Amino acid sequence: MEVCSQLPVLPLDRPVPQHVLRRRGAISLGTSSALFGGPSPRQLCKRRGGVSYNSADQAVLYLHLLGKCRSTPSHLRRRRRGKHTQAPGFVPSCVKIFLQWLGPVRPGARGLKSHRRRLSFQRGLKSRHLRQRPSGPQHLLDQVYNCQVKCMLDKVDSWDFDIFMFDRATNGNGLVTLTFHLFLQLGLTRLFRLDPIKLRSFLVMVQADYHQRNPYHNSLHATDVTQAMYCFLRQPKLATTLSSCDMLLALVAAVTHDLDHPGVNQGFLVRTGHHLAALYKNSSVLESHHWRCAVSLLRESGLLDHLPITDRSERLGSLILATDISQQNRYLARFREHLDREDLSMADPSHRHLVLQITMKCADICNPCRVWRLSSQWSSRVTAEFFHQGDVEKKHGMAVSPLCDRLSDSTAHIQAGFIRHVVEPLFREWCRFSCTSLSHRMLAHLQTNLDRWTDPSQHPETPP
Ligand SMILES: [Zn+2]
Repeated sequence: MEVCSQLPVLPLDRPVPQHVLRRRGAISLGTSSALFGGPSPRQLCKRRGGVSYNSADQAVLYLHLLGKCRSTPSHLRRRRRGKHTQAPGFVPSCVKIFLQWLGPVRPGARGLKSHRRRLSFQRGLKSRHLRQRPSGPQHLLDQVYNCQVKCMLDKVDSWDFDIFMFDRATNGNGLVTLTFHLFLQLGLTRLFRLDPIKLRSFLVMVQADYHQRNPYHNSLHATDVTQAMYCFLRQPKLATTLSSCDMLLALVAAVTHDLDHPGVNQGFLVRTGHHLAALYKNSSVLESHHWRCAVSLLRESGLLDHLPITDRSERLGSLILATDISQQNRYLARFREHLDREDLSMADPSHRHLVLQITMKCADICNPCRVWRLSSQWSSRVTAEFFHQGDVEKKHGMAVSPLCDRLSDSTAHIQAGFIRHVVEPLFREWCRFSCTSLSHRMLAHLQTNLDRWTDPSQHPETPP
C-alpha cells in the first residue's frame, strides 16, 4: 500500500488523454469498452477491472479487479479470441491486487515483447503478490490516489481548497474523486451500506451529464459546491443536529444541483420556446430539470434503492429548487423571520430542512466568499458564460439579456451587483445563524473582493 500512494495511478474510468500520457509517461488499460474509444458512463457498471503501469518507475504493474471479476487465465484467453464463454472462478469482490516485478522494464522492441510476456495473466496468477490483499479498506482502486490528490484530500475541509488545482490533479475527474471521498469521510458509504461500485457509477454519470463546454455551469462548479457543502456540514450547528440522512441528501443535492445545465438562463429558454420551459410552465425551469435528471441518475444507478427513505425524491427536489436565485427573497424572508424571533429549532424537521435549503443556497453562490485567487477565476468564468449567451442572442436578432452584453457589461460591474444584492444579504443572515470563524472569514473575503471589484484603478473598464 505504501508504494501505491507514492506512485501515480491513473483513473481507469475513461480513456487516458494523450497529453496525460505524454506528461506522466504512464498508460492505463481496462477490460471495459468505456476505456477504449468513446467513453460511455453507462457501461461502467459492466467494468470489471483494469491494468496500469507506471513507465517512469518501470518496475510496478497494478492489476485492479472490481466486483465479481472472472479472473481465470482460460477466461482471459477466450476473451482475447472474442468468445465470451463462462469460466469458473471468481475473485472476491472489491479486491485490489498489485503485481510487483523485480528489475526495470527495458524500452524498445525487446522491452515491449517482455511486457507482453509479463502481462500474461496466467503468469500473474502464480505470483505470490496476487495472493496478498492490501490491509486497507476493501473498496475501489480509485481510493488509491496519486500523491498530490492524496495531500489535497487530506485538507478537503479547508475553505481555501484549490478546486482548480484539484481538478487538474485528478485529470478532470474532480467531481467523482472528491465526492466519493466525502461519502467515505462522512461515513455514509458504511452507514447506508452503499455499494461502492454503484456509488462510483452514479458519480461518473453525474460528472458526464454536466456540459464541460460551459465556462461556468460544468462539473467543476458542482465539485466546488459539494466541497463548500462539506465545509458547511462540518460547522458545529449542523454537524451536531443534522441526521445522516440529511447529510446524504445534502451531498447528493450539491453534486447534482446543476445537472445538464445548458449554459443559458431561464429567460433564454422561455423566449426561445424551449421544450423545458413549456414542460415546467416557465417556473424554476432549470432547477426542475436538474432535479429530474438527478432522480433519473439515482434510479439508473440503483444507488439508494435499498434505503427506505420514502420522500427522498421530494426532499432532494426541494433542496435543488432552493438554488433558484429568483426565489431567494422568499427563502431568505422565512429564514430571517425565524432568526428575528429566535425560534429556529433544529429538532423540528421542517426547520432543519429550511436550514438545509439555506445551506444549499450558500454553497451554490459562495464564490465571492472565497479568497480572491479562487473567487476571481469563478467571476471570469461566469462572465464568459453570460457573454456567450449575449453573443447567441445578438446572432439571432434577439434582445440581449441583462448582464450578457460584452460591449456594455463587465466582470467588475456584474460581480459588484451580485455581491451587494444577492450574496451579501444571504451570508449576513447565515452568519447570524452560524456565528463561526468560517462565517466571519467568508464575510471578510466578501468585503475584500467587493472592494477590489469596485476599485476603478484595478478595473478601469468598470462602467460608471
Ligand atoms: Zn450552481
